[in-house]
Amino acid sequence: MKCTEDEITRILHVNYVHVTLYFVITFSAVAVFVGTKTILNKIRRNNAQLTVIIIGAGPIGLTSALISVHCKRVQKLVLYEEQSKSNVERRTYQIALQPAQVSFLRSYGVDFDNLEGLWHKGCFYTRVGIYLEYIIHTLPLYSMGTEINFGTKFSRDIRDTVDKISGRKLVICCDGSVGVATHTLGLSDECVIHSCGILGAVATVEKNNETLVPRPEKRIHNLSFDLSAYVPTAFEENNSSNFTLKIFGNSKCRYMALAVNKCNSNVVRALKTVLDKSMMRNIFLKCFNTYKRSSETSISDSYCLNNMKFSPRLYEIKLSQRMENVAYIEDCDLFVITEGEASRSYNFNTGLDINIGLKGLSALQPFIEMASLAETEHSIMQSLIYKMEHSNRICREFLKFGLKEYIFL
Ligand SMILES: Cc1cc2nc3c(=O)[nH]c(=O)nc-3n(C[C@H](O)[C@H](O)[C@H](O)COP(=O)(O)OP(=O)(O)OC[C@H]3O[C@@H](n4cnc5c(N)ncnc54)[C@H](O)[C@@H]3O)c2cc1C
Repeated sequence: MKCTEDEITRILHVNYVHVTLYFVITFSAVAVFVGTKTILNKIRRNNAQLTVIIIGAGPIGLTSALISVHCKRVQKLVLYEEQSKSNVERRTYQIALQPAQVSFLRSYGVDFDNLEGLWHKGCFYTRVGIYLEYIIHTLPLYSMGTEINFGTKFSRDIRDTVDKISGRKLVICCDGSVGVATHTLGLSDECVIHSCGILGAVATVEKNNETLVPRPEKRIHNLSFDLSAYVPTAFEENNSSNFTLKIFGNSKCRYMALAVNKCNSNVVRALKTVLDKSMMRNIFLKCFNTYKRSSETSISDSYCLNNMKFSPRLYEIKLSQRMENVAYIEDCDLFVITEGEASRSYNFNTGLDINIGLKGLSALQPFIEMASLAETEHSIMQSLIYKMEHSNRICREFLKFGLKEYIFL
């Protein structure tokens, strides 16, 4: 059968209409699908939230809590502290916050005008209990869903309760250098020990007749000692071992930290190996009386004998870094991270010790955002890697600059 030209044109037209219709319908279906998916994703992203559980109400635990209540992703915050509230608020030692940490804390609403303390060269000095009390009282102002459980040790039973909380959870372990919460959560306790390349010794003297008043630190550089009265060889013509001394702490509890770059000079060798404790005691006593603040009273030999605690010898300063400091436990949709001394600590007291913990917290808010949104195995991994790399960077920077910044500069 032959078709006329008109019939062929009509058939072609009908086919053209069918094909166009087919494309329009397919395109519309794809557009509706993509649009709905985007809207659903947006709704899900907007609604993605998690519950934060913090273990430990030390300076790092409570600062983590303050950061968490500022994150819109955190729907509820629960904190466990084994000590009572009054014990936490009564902690007496002095902390010094460096200028960078002061502005970091200001960005989370810490009002330094309402904190009792002392400013000196951009650092803020206060009693740790005052800082902790301030945060404890501030937290409820930001969030109604905050639950602080004092006198409650995080144990296996509490871990079971945490597992049963529905939805995504983040546990932040801030239980200090001797805490075992991470172990309870199934993380390894293994630590890498790094040498800081510096030798040090510390001393404390309690002045019982003084009231608790914040005091600025004092650093004295390029000190050298003639120890030939103790060890005939421990004398150096060229004073090759230059010590730095730092005096810090409040008016009642005075700390001294003595540090020297690792070397093998006669004086350093003597201070590392000689068993006569009086050598180090006399160094600290003389240092204190020579370099103390002019308004302070000197320490007598007998007071020193009974009231000064000190390292008997120079020892190597080491940074201990927890190997497993982030994890995701799939069964109960739970992230775990460690912060503060639960994550890294060093065997020396510099008076600036909490600053390294606060530096670690600078990644907390972005991590909470990433952890709340992570859906796929890949994105969960990405968030863990982000936190792990940040933690490694803190340690690397501490090894490179930390003790210089805290002691020698
Ligand atoms: C005597 C002394 C003097 C110091 N002097 C200074 C100084 O001058 N300047 C300075 O910056 N730093 C100083 N530090 C160091 C300072 O204490 C630490 O850097 C800082 O406290 C670390 O904070 P953190 O929150 O990581 O741990 P921590 O302060 O140790 O807090 C850990 C908290 O976790 C709680 N906890 C432990 N296990 C559990 C559990 N299973 N369940 C619930 N809660 C738990 C503990 O009770 C504690 O409250 C000093 C420390 C001491 C001990």
